Amino acid sequence: MVKAERVHKSFGAVQVLRGIDLEVKSGEVFCVVGPSGSGKSTFLRCINHLEKINAGRLWVDGHLVGYRQKGDRLYEMKEREVAAQRRDIGMVFQRFNLFPHMTAAENVMEAPVQVKGMRKAEARERAEALLARVGLADRMENYPSQLSGGQQQRVAIARALAMDPKLMLFDEPTSALDPELVGEVLDVMRGLAEDGMTMIVVTHEMGFAREVGDSLVFMDEGVVVESGRPRDVLSDPRHERTRAFLSKVL
Ligand code: ATP
Ligand code: MG
Repeated sequence: MVKAERVHKSFGAVQVLRGIDLEVKSGEVFCVVGPSGSGKSTFLRCINHLEKINAGRLWVDGHLVGYRQKGDRLYEMKEREVAAQRRDIGMVFQRFNLFPHMTAAENVMEAPVQVKGMRKAEARERAEALLARVGLADRMENYPSQLSGGQQQRVAIARALAMDPKLMLFDEPTSALDPELVGEVLDVMRGLAEDGMTMIVVTHEMGFAREVGDSLVFMDEGVVVESGRPRDVLSDPRHERTRAFLSKVL
């Protein structure tokens, strides 16, 4: 579903990604862990082309991200094509980023109505089903300010799902939450995983990674230092840098 080959990304003179190679298979829960500043968020942003890579290749669902290939040559996509590509990718951030002046239902309906031109009645029905799926059937008409952080994050997940994404990207979705609210968000993510959603999850929740993850990579200084089954990497890290990191977070 996602393939990265020698992906590089710099901001000015700062090299943030220095040759990322990895492959995420369809239906897989792929966890990314690593210290602050190692490039995890930047890599996620490259996957949906919020950042343009400087070198290497990146594919989502068999298509190059941001480029069309004709023969041997690559052509940069127009903004409209990039937007179409991005539509298949749902993203959930640390901060929930809901529209504050819209109810939970309206937040979930917004993209299908505005982007896909879905009729409002249909979008509302789907929003109802999606909010029920994240355990918020009774919160349809609440505004974000009337919801807890965990509830807001679940609305954000429902909103991302409303576009029927092939791939979901999660960037530390629980790290802004009070500890007692983390579980309800992880439960929703676990449900998505059970339904077969392909997910890339940047997280410090090692319990989640171990139980739900199919693969795990440890990133440091813009490279993948170590990868494998979460259980193996977490219990028996091969590299000193991985060990040092895990000893701080576990
Ligand atoms: P954290 O765990 O703190 O979220 P991260 O692994 O997600 O860290 P990134 O946010 O990807 O790390 O940042 C990696 C590096 O890239 C940092 O040094 C950061 O300052 C730099 N960086 C990220 N975005 C930009 C930008 N738009 N312009 C300049 N530098 C940037
Ligand atoms: Mg980050």
